[in-house]
Amino acid sequence: MKAVVFQEFGGPEVLLFRDIPDPVMRHDQVLVRVKACALNHLDLWVRKGLPGVNLPHINGSDIAGVVEDVGDYITSVKKGQRVLVAPMTFCNHCAMCTGGQQNFCREFTVLGNGVDGGNCELIAVPEANVIPIPDSLSFDEAASVPLVFLTAWHMLVARSHIRQGQWVLVLGAGSGVGTAAIQIAKMFHAKVIATAGDDAKLAKARELGADFTIDHYKQRIADEVKNITGRRGVDIVFEHVGKATWADSIKSLRPGGTIVTCGATTGPDVSFDLRQLFAKQLSFLGSYMGTMGDLHEVLGHVFTGRLKPVVDRTFPLSETADAHRYLESSQMFGKVVLRP
Ligand SMILES: [Zn+2]
Repeated sequence: MKAVVFQEFGGPEVLLFRDIPDPVMRHDQVLVRVKACALNHLDLWVRKGLPGVNLPHINGSDIAGVVEDVGDYITSVKKGQRVLVAPMTFCNHCAMCTGGQQNFCREFTVLGNGVDGGNCELIAVPEANVIPIPDSLSFDEAASVPLVFLTAWHMLVARSHIRQGQWVLVLGAGSGVGTAAIQIAKMFHAKVIATAGDDAKLAKARELGADFTIDHYKQRIADEVKNITGRRGVDIVFEHVGKATWADSIKSLRPGGTIVTCGATTGPDVSFDLRQLFAKQLSFLGSYMGTMGDLHEVLGHVFTGRLKPVVDRTFPLSETADAHRYLESSQMFGKVVLRP
């Protein structure tokens, strides 16, 4: 099969489009023919070099495709079914997994991070990962859903316990998680303030449901949040940007407010004054992916059309290096998708 493989860490030029042997499916696995695989910032971090990534490596967390074959023990899906693949692997027998908290499993890893992913034509995955999709969803759309909608759902619903009518500040509205967060917050009838870096993205954020928008290059986020909320501040800041926005995120919170974060796109080194934390009774929550229960719950809303994947652009798998450059340039609004 064709695959995009890298044998050394580095820039987009290390990504090699080549022939490799087809995967060998176990009796308890499903072989999926990949029709679309969405990019995430994680792909860029893994390509640049993360601990625990063995070389040679194949990236790709978000897969949609067709069941090519099933192992002898598989009962829940059939050959030819249109499916997406849950973007994580876990042991499925430890106390955390059986308790429904797969993202606390010691063997938990993101597909395409700790194990090879879907930047290829065929992939063998456990049955629990394979989820049928409705005909209303294209492969490009289905591939654009799992990682970002799971992450945003876990952040807002499972971790932050979002409630109706709350103020939510969504940073980086043009990112995949940003587009998911705006829609999920609006589903909870929240008042959403979204930030982005140009007028076209701000307009698209409003189309997705954002009530207010802030140009984070031209305006000070915390000042604008104060103006918009009448100096109150927001209940929840949806963080994934890190260093560039952290100070504004803290200043944007109401007393008792929550920052929930899943990433650090602009850098992980941030600081804060402990007095702000205790005197304003703030909560800083970390969030990593989500559980299979979260995934099925959020997919229910996607499959019925309440939440919509946002596809920015597709690239042929052979042009994965260009797709990485495009994602790195932050021009996108929504997901960048590779097609084998
Ligand atoms: Zn486990």
